[in-house]
Amino acid sequence: MSIDIDNELNGEIHQETKLKGLNATIANPSVTRHIMKAFNLRASKRLGQNFLVDANIVRGIVDAAGAKPGDKILEIGPGIGTLTQGLAESGADITAVELDKKLPAVLAETLAGYDNVRIVPGDILKVNIPELMGDGPFKVAANLPYYITTPILMELLEKHLPISILVTMVQKEVALRMIAKPGSKTYGALSVAVQYYTKPHIAFDVPPRSFIPAPEVDSVVIVCDVREKPAVEVKDEKMFFRVVKAAFGQRRKTIANTLKGAGFTKEAIDRAFAACGIDSGRRGETFNLKEFAALADAIVVNNLV
Ligand code: SAM
Repeated sequence: MSIDIDNELNGEIHQETKLKGLNATIANPSVTRHIMKAFNLRASKRLGQNFLVDANIVRGIVDAAGAKPGDKILEIGPGIGTLTQGLAESGADITAVELDKKLPAVLAETLAGYDNVRIVPGDILKVNIPELMGDGPFKVAANLPYYITTPILMELLEKHLPISILVTMVQKEVALRMIAKPGSKTYGALSVAVQYYTKPHIAFDVPPRSFIPAPEVDSVVIVCDVREKPAVEVKDEKMFFRVVKAAFGQRRKTIANTLKGAGFTKEAIDRAFAACGIDSGRRGETFNLKEFAALADAIVVNNLV
């Protein structure tokens, strides 16, 4: 199918938006509607499809990622190629993994002319990322499907992949959880995990009107600078996250009671708290990363499992 976009849009496309292949910037409501119509696409709610239509937001993501020639960038869910196009324009090498089987054929046309883009059909939670991205550091940029934001972030972080920076569009409420500090209502296992592996900050807000279709929630772009070493040193990462998950599994209980619920014996719990000097009557939601690490290490060092 060829796209005669200039005719369709009656000259709506300005000189600066002219590009190879499609001959237009995809991040634009008319162009996006045109592509959807030309390929008979309907945004799938199930796959979290909300396509960006604001070129400033695309530019903001590309800039936040510091995308430049020589970079390797993994994009999750390219959709119809909106962010991919912005990333490709930077000269970086883009590998984009898309689950929707209909879209690779669309992307072949919307991104025709960009020889620095590789589309990989598949599920980001199932593809072999080290095999895809090869050796050496890479960046991640994405307008994430909101229905699986947390599993995707955890998958990318827990595997200790050589990622230097993650720049992702997420639901604002999720971003607030990612940056939350101890004692706040939004502080939870996701906050600990993200802050253990990265230094996160919210780059900018993105209103619903920046997408087609408009999502029912507010969005933000969050930047996570991946740490060279995790924020705290732990003897056993699995135990650290087991304790963290237990602590937030039942937020209203004391940390000692949540650990009991997670299968630790009373004797082990008493000895672990005695060893690390932390008050067992506190709630897990008040623990900072160092305290979670000290408690998890006390369990490991004292062979309490
Ligand atoms: N990047 C495009 C943009 O900014 O307009 C589309 C973003 S849309 C919010 C999310 C994209 O992720 C959709 O294209 C959807 O099909 C894709 N997707 C959903 N689940 C996925 C998965 N498990 N693996 C890879 N892509 C997925």
